Amino acid sequence: MSNRRDFLKYSGLLAGGVLVSKSLTACGNGGGRASSKGLTLRFEPYDLKLKHVFTLASSSRTTTPVMLIELEYDGVIGYGEASMPPYLGESHETATKFLSGLNLHQFTDPFLMDDILAYVENSAPGNYAAKASVDIALHDLVGKLIGQPWFKMWGLNRNKTPETSYTIGIDTPEVVKDKVREAAPYNILKVKLGRGNDKEMINTIRSVTDKPLCVDVNQGWKDKQMALDMIHWLREQGIVFVEQPMSKYAIDDMAWLTENSPLPTIADEALQTVKDVLPLKGVYSGINIKLMKCGGLSAAHKMANMARIMGMKVMIGCMTETSCAVSAAAQLSPLVDWADLDGNLLISNDVFQGVTIESGKVTLNDKPGIGISKI
Ligand code: MG
Repeated sequence: MSNRRDFLKYSGLLAGGVLVSKSLTACGNGGGRASSKGLTLRFEPYDLKLKHVFTLASSSRTTTPVMLIELEYDGVIGYGEASMPPYLGESHETATKFLSGLNLHQFTDPFLMDDILAYVENSAPGNYAAKASVDIALHDLVGKLIGQPWFKMWGLNRNKTPETSYTIGIDTPEVVKDKVREAAPYNILKVKLGRGNDKEMINTIRSVTDKPLCVDVNQGWKDKQMALDMIHWLREQGIVFVEQPMSKYAIDDMAWLTENSPLPTIADEALQTVKDVLPLKGVYSGINIKLMKCGGLSAAHKMANMARIMGMKVMIGCMTETSCAVSAAAQLSPLVDWADLDGNLLISNDVFQGVTIESGKVTLNDKPGIGISKI
């Protein structure tokens, strides 16, 4: 064990020298020196560069702010990440404030995960991405201390990982065609709709590929009858499911749409964390779990099991993220029907390597924790 720890300590510190600059902030122990007595948290703001301008129904952007964090115990380092697309309300500033306020050094046993995560959860309302970064780092740390990846500790079968979808944003027909060609390694494509040119988008994509498609409307449809008519049309075009077709507040309209829809409807913006799952029974066919929305792997694991018990479909998604948060989410992927874990594939400055996509399928490795190493 001590040899393994020494190796992890060495590799972690060496990699830390590359990624984590001298400006990296330590908190929770009143200084920058790691101690073997308690958990030491460090964090650094970072901006992810998108390969393409990313357009949703309501906004466009070329970068996404993230916070990269390290949680160290006895020389072993767990990595975590908060991804904070602006429309969700978190930022480098809010995450810095939240993380600076945590005193994780009080915890001298990282295996007391429930206690540690309850403390993090109760330390301030909201801040789900920042909370997720600590949860992910703690899972990575504990997995490394035990020497196993989380999918194994949860008893999941790596052969049951789903295919992952590759997202095609709203754009001009020529750019859309280019993106479809780029997506050649993927067997299912996710198409963003809801900007008033939905049929044009689908027809453009169908002119270059007959792969299965799923669509994400990001609350863009305003009328339930129009939504149902569109879903019937989409079904004829080989669409697999429809994500967040209407406003998250249109609960009665969504229940009607789900009851009448020939395709499964998936809640995304309509849910945040564990407590939101139960009320969605009968309103949507399934849920899209994202670590940055729900606060991390602990909540995500509970949500996936709840949805399964309720007979709902489960999808695991992501934000624009490095391979850190994507690989963490991938640990859960054998539990889900569909994965949308392409966030790391859409950026040009990833700083980790972890889960890979092989023949379109999420492919887990044997690395302990969340299965990543620094580039
Ligand atoms: Mg979505």
